[in-house]
Amino acid sequence: MRFGACREAPVKIALLPGDGIGREIIAEAAKLLERLRRDGLPIEPMPDATLSLARRADAVMLGAVGGPRYDALPRESRPEQGLLAIRKALGLFANLRPALSYPELERASSLKPEVVAGLDVMIVRELTGDIYFGAPRGRRTNAAGETEGFDTMHYSDSEIRRIAQVGFEIARKRQKKLCSVDKANVLDTSILWREVVTAVGKDHPDVQLSHMYVDNAAMQLVRDPRQFDVIVTGNLFGDILSDEASMLAGSIGMLPSASLDANRKGLYEPIHGSAPDIAGQNKANPLATILSLAMMFRYTFGRADVAERIEQAVRKVLGQGLRTADIALPGERVIGTREMGDAVVGAVYGNIRERAR
Ligand code: NAD
Repeated sequence: MRFGACREAPVKIALLPGDGIGREIIAEAAKLLERLRRDGLPIEPMPDATLSLARRADAVMLGAVGGPRYDALPRESRPEQGLLAIRKALGLFANLRPALSYPELERASSLKPEVVAGLDVMIVRELTGDIYFGAPRGRRTNAAGETEGFDTMHYSDSEIRRIAQVGFEIARKRQKKLCSVDKANVLDTSILWREVVTAVGKDHPDVQLSHMYVDNAAMQLVRDPRQFDVIVTGNLFGDILSDEASMLAGSIGMLPSASLDANRKGLYEPIHGSAPDIAGQNKANPLATILSLAMMFRYTFGRADVAERIEQAVRKVLGQGLRTADIALPGERVIGTREMGDAVVGAVYGNIRERAR
């Protein structure tokens, strides 16, 4: 049984390994893509793509950027700034971060297993606006002669509307519950945010919309995270809440992310960084990257079938007890990055054989 017709023009996937463990984890994603391609899926992986190639691709798969060799550079020369610039240049305004608890890894969470069992939250974070990009910003001398730093938080009506729409669309395909997070008791930006999200909600009567202040949301995420289905929020609040949610699921090495533009072109990347402490040692967990690939098939290529097969394969290898060091409990046997990648490829094809029978 093959994945898809060979006649379709292949979609182009740019692979940007980046720094540190980036090369190792992207190699595992490339291995899976190559196997899918040989099996007839109309895709064309472009290894070690340049940024200009990434712009022309249908989707981009990024490893991670950053590392100690850049630490001495000024902020504007660091690779993280390059990443912010790509997100902005490609118009990637919607960041999707699922936090999912796998039964096999419940004990790796910092919360009690009974609090996280079955957790499946999707955080939709606005990515190109808010205080991170607002102007004016900088330093100035105030009336008292003191130096002060300042930034500007702002959101326009249209920026809020388009991210709210993404939130509703995703909620519609899940449990139909959307929680919009803001700070409308203090911030004018948030008052507008709440008004616009409420207005967009009128077009989505099948989705149950609620609003929550960000401080309460931070607390509720650790008190009872399973109350959430989809959370939609701005750039700053989403940055913090999505990192908090990632810890609920156990290891940072398990969590994928997607950043989408208005046409669903996307940049897909694991949420973790370049992990310089384990780079080049065949220790990195490639599953967050492989799960990012699954998101790519679901959100950019509209192939939920392929996404589900990859996700099932990940569940299968975890069920078989395969663990990289970051998700292993004391006494459990540990395998390396390459072995984990091979196991997933094997499980994807195991699944196909089972389905074909
Ligand atoms: P990190 O996510 O790289 O590492 C944090 C810890 O998690 C480390 O102990 C690391 O070994 C471990 N870890 C991370 N990914 C893992 C994986 N796949 N498998 C097993 N263990 C894993 O965060 P950091 O150490 O704060 O940052 C290192 C560099 O990465 C910095 O330069 C930072 O700016 C950059 N960074 C980049 C991105 C990105 O590219 N989007 C995101 C976060 C951090």
